[in-house]
Amino acid sequence: MPFQQEFAAKLRAAGVVGAGGAGFPAYVKAGGRAELVLVNAAECEPLLKKDQKLLELHAEKVFDGLELMMKAVGATTGVFGIKRKHEKLVKRLEEIARTRRNISVGPMGDYYPAGDEQCLVAELTGRIVPAGGIPLDVGCVVSNVETLYNAARAGETPVVEKWITVAGAVKKPATFKVPIGVTYAEAVELCGGSTVKDPVGIDGGPMMGKVIPDFSTIINRSSGGLIVLPKDHPLIQKKAQPRAVFSRIGKSACDQCSFCTEFCPRYLLGHQVQPHRVMRSLLFSGGPEKKLHSEYALACCECSLCSLYACPEGLHPREACVAAKGDLREAKVGLKNSSLAGRSSNQAHPLRDFRKVPVSRLVKRLGLEDYLKDAPYEDFRYRPGSVRIQLSQHIGASCSPAVKEGQRVRRGDIVGDLPADKLGCPVHASVDGVVTRVNHLYVEIKAD
Ligand code: SF4
Ligand code: SF4
Repeated sequence: MPFQQEFAAKLRAAGVVGAGGAGFPAYVKAGGRAELVLVNAAECEPLLKKDQKLLELHAEKVFDGLELMMKAVGATTGVFGIKRKHEKLVKRLEEIARTRRNISVGPMGDYYPAGDEQCLVAELTGRIVPAGGIPLDVGCVVSNVETLYNAARAGETPVVEKWITVAGAVKKPATFKVPIGVTYAEAVELCGGSTVKDPVGIDGGPMMGKVIPDFSTIINRSSGGLIVLPKDHPLIQKKAQPRAVFSRIGKSACDQCSFCTEFCPRYLLGHQVQPHRVMRSLLFSGGPEKKLHSEYALACCECSLCSLYACPEGLHPREACVAAKGDLREAKVGLKNSSLAGRSSNQAHPLRDFRKVPVSRLVKRLGLEDYLKDAPYEDFRYRPGSVRIQLSQHIGASCSPAVKEGQRVRRGDIVGDLPADKLGCPVHASVDGVVTRVNHLYVEIKAD
């Protein structure tokens, strides 16, 4: 079998998906053709450190994954996109790069959202991914650090562990790996528990992560980490605003200053994303419960910079964009059939470099200075009592259960699978044990 197909098949069988939050199956990327493979090690969400720590411990393995991906897609060049503030790590990566062929390190500034796929491509190559497009459109494949680490190990082990950072209001912020299928509550306990009375979690980074109702949320292949904050923290309050409230406030308080647009990283790439126009459309929608149909939301990547940094009135342009995208989806309008199709310039804004938002300033704006601590790697070797393996842990179709209640399974066994013609990968047991529950959402395994 040609190497590309063999490697893609290994990635699928091992359940390798985008580990940076997206959960896109890696075998699809490995099946394309590209000149460049870019490693997304920018990790620009404040407080999250899992890519950095993983690279400190397993850089060689990540290089192996990069080389395999380069070979699969026929790329002549590989570039590590990492922030130059990680001086020691950058030096170490440069040392390793000298021992590999056609791989270099591309140090980046410490701004947000440097890790946005399209910003990363622009930063490292000068190429602009067209609005609504993917990096492959400009000859690039972008892979996250942990994804490439998992790709390098795909022949040896399926993905049954997840690297995460737990930071914020916990006794000992840390970065560690846990068996897939444990809860955030268990992860918080590993960090000594919360330091506040009413802790609330953000699943993912402070900018793009979602507030979770409680800590029973299950960790899966695309979880990035957890930020714990007191319930009354302004960031939690802001993120928890329901649509009816942010629409009502936005309708009356938006003065159309357009700062949200001027700072928008996708607008600065020349895409037709204009959150101030989406906010303006609130005025015409008749009421908070009415549909939003501003097409200027369609190419929004939901980075939250407009809501959590740019807007001087503390409004919710990002949430308005998300709501508008949902409403447009229902109306079957996407970028390709919208009136904005083909209207993006795909030329970076001349002021783009001057409008990058330093992470240090962002941390202050988010009120996270008190939580700006290291989250060192801890080898907890956690052995849970039970795990719940979700049947949908990736973009694409959900798996169907491949085991029955009462069945004994070994770590690495397939417990959920899907037909080969569907987008997605099988899911695996992360512990040895007995299947105690099977439903359409998960397979529960009681560990030995
Ligand atoms: S920055 Fe805020 S006030 Fe200004 S246009 Fe955007 S949403 Fe309105
Ligand atoms: S969330 Fe706001 S700043 Fe980010 S891409 Fe969307 S509109 Fe632009």
